Amino acid sequence: MANSIKMVDLHGQYLKIKDEIDQAIQEVINTSAFINGKPVEAFAGELADYTGAKYVIPCANGTDALQIAYQALDLKPGDEVIMPAFNYVASAEAAAMLGLKPVFVDVHEDTFNINENLIKERITSATKAIVVVHLFGQSANMEPILEIARQFKLKVIEDNAQSLGSEYTFKNGNKQLTGTMGDIGTYSFFPTKNLGCFGDGGAISTNNQDLAQKATMISRHGQGQKYAYEIVGCNSRLDTIQAAILSVKLRNLNKYLQSRIEAGRCYNQLLENLFQVIRPSDNSWSKHTYNQYVIRLNKRDKIKDLLKAAEVPTMIYYPSPLHLQKAYAYLGYKTGDFPVAEKLCHEVLALPIHTEITSHEQEFVINSLIQSINSL
Ligand SMILES: *Cc1c(COP(=O)(O)O)cnc(C)c1O
Repeated sequence: MANSIKMVDLHGQYLKIKDEIDQAIQEVINTSAFINGKPVEAFAGELADYTGAKYVIPCANGTDALQIAYQALDLKPGDEVIMPAFNYVASAEAAAMLGLKPVFVDVHEDTFNINENLIKERITSATKAIVVVHLFGQSANMEPILEIARQFKLKVIEDNAQSLGSEYTFKNGNKQLTGTMGDIGTYSFFPTKNLGCFGDGGAISTNNQDLAQKATMISRHGQGQKYAYEIVGCNSRLDTIQAAILSVKLRNLNKYLQSRIEAGRCYNQLLENLFQVIRPSDNSWSKHTYNQYVIRLNKRDKIKDLLKAAEVPTMIYYPSPLHLQKAYAYLGYKTGDFPVAEKLCHEVLALPIHTEITSHEQEFVINSLIQSINSL
């Protein structure tokens, strides 16, 4: 039993749809249209249908998606972009590559998402956009963020790499999928995301036709007519084989999300009376899709080692906040600037969660966790 517990189980997921996937890949090989083959456009249409976004532009990965989004929004060197300090590196990196200035904001300790109450104090005359990162499968609190953006005329980019299929509920009861509430949503199809391909993949979504056209052009070397380069762009394409795989997997996405949600609920129950562990909060405004199940606890590193010895894999997302990373030292932040993000980095531990995990495996994980805590 212990040997079989995996952080993710991509192979087990593949085996359940093997025939369809194999056939989809074989069809691409048969046509050999490996770049910009028909499945790429087909998948873009299907993802647009799924999300309700008017336009979906596929690209090579979720980091490129952010860079293309910044460029499509016409952000210029020196422009400031607000984003959470407790975060994957991509939104800061893509900004820095374009000469934009990442401006960090602390997060909520119960949801790990950007603290909307701390955004206004970071806004200056150079601020042009807010990147909302929906972390671990849960929506940030969008309604007040969209209101701040309206008030200060800022663009909103939703980094939805981890939360495709998650929903936000507005105060009036309306529900909307993450990635579709701001000006642009960005997606990653890295294999472990809610919708993952067999390599790298990404996309951006928008309801704005001008942004869609611009993003398309940027992702194709800034090309309008063939060999006519109107703006500086890049080369960022979704491979045809990946698109064909994604179409098959998108048909199963709701089932995958349901498995994740059930696994999340199972952990919530198993941890209910374990006072040493803080469970991820499932707040009223978001449907949590548990791309990751992240708990908080003391002596995290020791517990992680003990779990490893018990053959229970875990991961730390994230061990260090962005403002204390060497690459971003030039921004001039110091320890203490974002106390919640810094604290979380010492406490967070991601437990195994994926579409194939069984409740028996989850019981084993939690029993091992309890034993580890009791042995300290
Ligand atoms: C995975 C991820 C990305 C980047 O995705 P890639 O496809 O690996 O470039 C961006 N932002 C967040 C929050 C992510 O989790």
